[in-house]
Amino acid sequence: MESIIKKAIETHILEREEITALLKDENINETLFYAADKVRKEYVGDEIHLRGLIEFSNICKRNCLYCGIRCGNKNIKRFRLDEENIVTLAKNATQKGFKTIVLQSGEDPYFTAEILANIISRIKKFNVAITLSTGEMEEREYKLLKDAGADRFLLRIETTNPYLYKKFHPDMSLEHRINCLKTLKKLGYETGTGVLVGLFGQTFESLANDIIFFKEIDADMIGLGPLIVNEDTPLKGGNNGSLNLALKMIAITRLLMPDINIPATTAMETLHPKGRIMALQAGANVIMPNVGDYNEKKLYSLYPGKANVNDDTDTSKEKITALIKSIGRVPSTSFGFRKKV
Ligand code: SAM
Repeated sequence: MESIIKKAIETHILEREEITALLKDENINETLFYAADKVRKEYVGDEIHLRGLIEFSNICKRNCLYCGIRCGNKNIKRFRLDEENIVTLAKNATQKGFKTIVLQSGEDPYFTAEILANIISRIKKFNVAITLSTGEMEEREYKLLKDAGADRFLLRIETTNPYLYKKFHPDMSLEHRINCLKTLKKLGYETGTGVLVGLFGQTFESLANDIIFFKEIDADMIGLGPLIVNEDTPLKGGNNGSLNLALKMIAITRLLMPDINIPATTAMETLHPKGRIMALQAGANVIMPNVGDYNEKKLYSLYPGKANVNDDTDTSKEKITALIKSIGRVPSTSFGFRKKV
């Protein structure tokens, strides 16, 4: 196992079987995390990029089986922020020092590309990078948003296993989602993807294939986290994904894609109070705190127990800055684009 890790550190290439072996072996974890942390330091340094997240609508036409905002969930109150509100939240966040605004929502038909483009061009005036995470769209629409000033797009593939994909997204197509990612790349977005760790029926081999996919598509960011079961979804009564396995996925991804951006996701902290620190010490270099003090953010409930949802922007920034410093890292003051090596 040590020789596989050494090969990953030196060449950043592993065979599918080697990735699978690392994922399976529980005795190698500390060595793996240490190696990923070293590679992270060498390639992207000690800076941690803070991306200010605005979750602006929990209305979604999709019905992903695991997701709390799926259209089939009748137990949540729906909300949609208006344009003025979104722009003001973004402005306040940039005034507090955030250099990236992430706009995330369900696939809400109200927010056409034209409406979103208008919001983007207004936010862009605050001299900030913009990441979108608004789901699947046509090429024409992605282009409109890019032209309006969007820099990055986050669209998790969720799983590359066709059987699992169909099972958890009955009305969607894996092929179409892959095509969306290719289109985003073609249009010049910094493109992020990632998977859910712990989808029922997922195997180590399937996760190894996911990492190979990240590399093949040359993703600029990888956001991955454990599945957290939402009792208002068809997955109720099932088990959460493993934090440890999600950390191993981060570590191997860092070893094989040393110069990309990898967030320590909220789902990690939801499963363990130190989940985000663990991720930052296993290869991650980004945190995406919620910004904006609006009541509706509690309604963006993908899963229960979402960490830090009650913090206002100042508290969350203070907490995160202290957390970053406590592990000897530095809050970044740059836009935090990928510097391709
Ligand atoms: N609609 C956009 C999309 O499809 O990319 C963005 C919103 S979607 C709710 C954001 C991410 O939440 C998904 O990519 C999914 O991985 C994650 N998510 C949804 N339900 C989850 C759960 N129960 N546990 C952990 N993550 C979840």
